[in-house]
Amino acid sequence: MDKLKLQWKIFGFLFGFCALLLVILWIFQTVFLSDMYKFIRKVEIDKAITLVEKNINSTKLQDVLNELEVTKEIIVRPTQGFAPPERPIPDKRIRKQPETITKAKEFVLEDGSKISLTFHAMITPVDATVSTLRMQLFVITGIMVLLATLLAIIISKHISKPIVQINQSAKVLAMGNYETKFNGRGFLEIKELSDTLNTAALELSKVEQLRRELMANVSHDLRTPLAFIYSYAEMMHDFPQEVTSEQSQIIMDEAKRLTALVNDMLDISSLETGIAKLNKVNYNLTESLRKTILRMKELVKNDGYQLELENAEDVCIFADEVKITQAIYNLLFNAITYSGDDKKVIVRQSVNGNVVRIEIIDHGEGISKSDLPYIWERYYKVDKKHKRPKMGTGIGLSIVKKIVELHKGEYGVESEVGKGSTFWFQLRIE
Ligand code: ADP
Repeated sequence: MDKLKLQWKIFGFLFGFCALLLVILWIFQTVFLSDMYKFIRKVEIDKAITLVEKNINSTKLQDVLNELEVTKEIIVRPTQGFAPPERPIPDKRIRKQPETITKAKEFVLEDGSKISLTFHAMITPVDATVSTLRMQLFVITGIMVLLATLLAIIISKHISKPIVQINQSAKVLAMGNYETKFNGRGFLEIKELSDTLNTAALELSKVEQLRRELMANVSHDLRTPLAFIYSYAEMMHDFPQEVTSEQSQIIMDEAKRLTALVNDMLDISSLETGIAKLNKVNYNLTESLRKTILRMKELVKNDGYQLELENAEDVCIFADEVKITQAIYNLLFNAITYSGDDKKVIVRQSVNGNVVRIEIIDHGEGISKSDLPYIWERYYKVDKKHKRPKMGTGIGLSIVKKIVELHKGEYGVESEVGKGSTFWFQLRIE
């Protein structure tokens, strides 16, 4: 039964219901008809007796008796000398005499005398009626079966169609297409089921997107420190006699940063969901900036890049050092990647009231006005030929954006095509 299609189930139920109705109709209209008719006649006679009793001394008695005779076919006569009226029997072959019900009742008149009246009702034979009804029932059964079939088809289509549609969409969803929309309409339960499935699909797509973003983040953020470590290790390998303690320190620092980053990766991906907590500490932003630039300088000095730090004073902030350094790295990395022929990147730190502003300035190709609003979005890359063979994944700036937002800071960019860009962010000094 479980494997039966909904269409057939509905058809079965409807058919069963119709059959039950017909059986009840058959029983009442053919088997019990005669008995029920007799019972009703008896009840009518009892009612007539009550009516006559009420009107026995009334002037309206004759009207009541006439009415009973005409409408109910109940004849009321004095019991004394009462003879049931003769009825013509149309067919002599029918031996069966029509049945009658006769009941006598004594009534007390106004003057105290008593009168006995006989109530006589004819029971018309129901055989002819029964055969007519039987004939009708055959026709009704036929019509009912036809209607039940039609109705079953219509109802089951109406109910099963949206379910079939939802099932198809669910199969598409199961194949990993989270764009699937469930459009179940027709009745409340299906509408609710569609809404639930749409929400589930949306949640699934979010999880999937988060997973993809995490992968992209991992590859993007591991690349920079790995590049440092590799190039210094290569240098040490090629010129072991020139190894300085600064160089090995850089490798150690970067390995440390890498560990911190790896540990932080899950937090980064959860920046989106707001689960990640900032590990805020009081630290010298200018000092950290200096170190970061130094590391970057070492990395790119062979390519002829120039990095300059412009600052007035040392500033201490209460922030997550790892994350802020990561944001600065991303901006520096971009500035170098897109820097102009002068190969110069300026990092400017300025303080305005209780706000510190970091600007990373390059004189490169700049960004067109049409691209500017989108560069902070994930995976957005301006399609052009870049100088560096290894390009980013298009998430560097969105990480910067998230980190600054988490610190309740502000960020932005001023850029002119052909002249260069100034990326900036500012944080409160607490
Ligand atoms: P990517 O990893 O591709 O660098 P980002 O999110 O860091 O991704 O940057 C998004 C896009 O913004 C880049 O593809 C690039 O086109 C543009 N962009 C970022 N920084 C600069 C810059 N300093 N100069 C010019 N274009 C830039």
